[in-house]
Amino acid sequence: MRFRLYPSAAQRVLLLEQCGHARYVWNLGLEQRLMWRRWKGPTPGFNAQAAQLTAARAAQPWLACGSQIVQQQALRDLDRAWRNFFAGTHRRPKWRRAGQDEGLRIVGPQALRVRQDNRARSSVLVPKIGWVSFKVGRVLVDWKSYRITRDRAGHWHIAFAVIPDPIPAPCNGEVVGVDRGVTVAVALSTGQMSSPAGLRLKESERLLRLQRRLARARRGSNRRKKVKTLVGQMKARDGDRRKDWVEKTTTDLARRFDVIRVENLNVKAMTRSARGTVENPGRHVAQKAGLNRGILKSGWGQLVTRLEQKALGRVEKVTAAYTSQTCNACKHIASESRKSQAAFVCVACGHRANADVNAARNIAAGQAVTARGDPRVLARSVKREPQHARPPKVA
Ligand SMILES: [Zn+2]
Repeated sequence: MRFRLYPSAAQRVLLLEQCGHARYVWNLGLEQRLMWRRWKGPTPGFNAQAAQLTAARAAQPWLACGSQIVQQQALRDLDRAWRNFFAGTHRRPKWRRAGQDEGLRIVGPQALRVRQDNRARSSVLVPKIGWVSFKVGRVLVDWKSYRITRDRAGHWHIAFAVIPDPIPAPCNGEVVGVDRGVTVAVALSTGQMSSPAGLRLKESERLLRLQRRLARARRGSNRRKKVKTLVGQMKARDGDRRKDWVEKTTTDLARRFDVIRVENLNVKAMTRSARGTVENPGRHVAQKAGLNRGILKSGWGQLVTRLEQKALGRVEKVTAAYTSQTCNACKHIASESRKSQAAFVCVACGHRANADVNAARNIAAGQAVTARGDPRVLARSVKREPQHARPPKVA
């Protein structure tokens, strides 16, 4: 649950300072993890990094001024992001940049200190900052932590991490396959397709114009600052609509179907650089680059996470191989059947369908894989170094 936060001018300065600490710790921790080399052994995990943080706070007074919770939580968030990345559900943790990724997280008993001021406003006691007012839209219950962020438009937000209550199954015996498609964000085996609204055409045009203007504006000028804020506003709006769509879509699916099948695909493998290596040059580089953008933009990791929370125990991951090349009518597998991103025409029986919907139907009929994944992947990994032990190449 996300609300607008209204810090005073003095609090804004303090918040930004704390965000700076969190960013510093996050980037330092990320740098350590990316330095992994086979011959050097493992990079420090969360515990080792937390110990180093304690030492750093003792040596650096400016770091010790900040909240220990905030700094330690940055390391914990990084640890989580790193694990998600290797589990294949999320992208690689990014560097945090000033002005763009400003945020901090508070957990534990300290995160529970919230008071109601009046009907529309509440306040939260942020460690080392004081009571900060926020606008409440809904009743706040059962949160464990919160995250304060500043979007690119300069607005502050507070998001309380609430794991959504599981939605009871409709008990209608209905199974749905969900394909996280390319031309649309989500295609269902029922034939429905949906994508986050994103920016409207007029808004996209405006964003493009603003970005051009930004490129022309002189560095450090007031004009540049103004245009940058406007660009930030548009991007924040786009992000909000995307989040909204994820919530609506997952609630809808959990309400309508008993079993929800999704592809057990490895986002990491699919989004890994399409360029390949010297010995093994990548194929279809341009197409893959387009595909990558589609996957990453529609926020799959978040969608599946939410789905698993809302349809508790009712989400099944099925083997992903060939779902897009298999004819749902006759089961013939041929890459030539996939005429384009959007059209599927079976070379064996002539069955025609939307390519994403055809894939969703194959997923609906698919076999659930075990938590350890596709048996073929296991067979391969016996001979090779386990994939998860290899950190990504730094570009
Ligand atoms: Zn066919």
